Amino acid sequence: QPGLYLVATPIGTARDITLRALDILASAEILVAEDTRSLKKLLAIHGVPLGDRPVWSYHDHSGAGTRAKLVEAVKQGRSVAYASEAGTPMVSDPGFDLAREMIAADLPLTGAPGPSAAIAALLLSGLPTDRFLFLGFLPPKATARKKALAEVSQVPCSLVIYESPKRVHALLNDLRDVLGSSRPAALCRELTKRFEEVVRTPLDDLAAELTDRTIKGECVVVVGPPGAAEWTEDDMRDALAEALKTQSVRDAAAF
Ligand code: SAM
Repeated sequence: QPGLYLVATPIGTARDITLRALDILASAEILVAEDTRSLKKLLAIHGVPLGDRPVWSYHDHSGAGTRAKLVEAVKQGRSVAYASEAGTPMVSDPGFDLAREMIAADLPLTGAPGPSAAIAALLLSGLPTDRFLFLGFLPPKATARKKALAEVSQVPCSLVIYESPKRVHALLNDLRDVLGSSRPAALCRELTKRFEEVVRTPLDDLAAELTDRTIKGECVVVVGPPGAAEWTEDDMRDALAEALKTQSVRDAAAF
């Protein structure tokens, strides 16, 4: 079928790709990638033959010429599959301008949904997932980052933030300073990979606990909603143990 197919690819484990994504990648006439080498590697892992199909490189900010060629190709009835470097295109990744131009030209646009680090982090964070606000990457400069956080500090949702490992300490300190030390949080690192790690603790502990550690790999920080400091099982056990120290509670428990 002609059209542009936006295809989600794994964020770590190569087998986290959908069967439909593989079908699309196997049959599209033109393959387009943010990183052509990663896409070729993924195809090779899954035994999808490239044949003599071209793999074009595309990035929103440098791709006006390629975008025009892709719109033209779809107009002529070709099928085009686009994959960003990892995860879902357009989620802190290129693809938005391309999708918009397809829509503006009234051409068929199809999504092949799949992995995204934001959702993978929410799954493991232990924080409320009923309402969440995805902030992507915050500004790298401290003043702008704090301002961006102040704007959302009272939004009654979990916050999902992407950050590079080099800046994650600075981010955690700003989160604690702007959102408050008791907000529950989770640092989700290297999701779906061998060294996957999730640290779940309030913001002051998280900032302190990681101070002396060099954080490596890819990170997502999830912060719980304001006023929703939820009790973990450990919290409940500790509180119960504390309460059982008093005679009246022991009597009540015995009764
Ligand atoms: N399009 C991707 C998605 O759907 O999640 C996001 C691409 S963005 C350029 C890369 C950022 O996503 C990383 O800096 C990190 O914050 C997050 N990320 C990607 N893969 C991850 C992983 N395996 N574990 C934790 N975070 C990850």
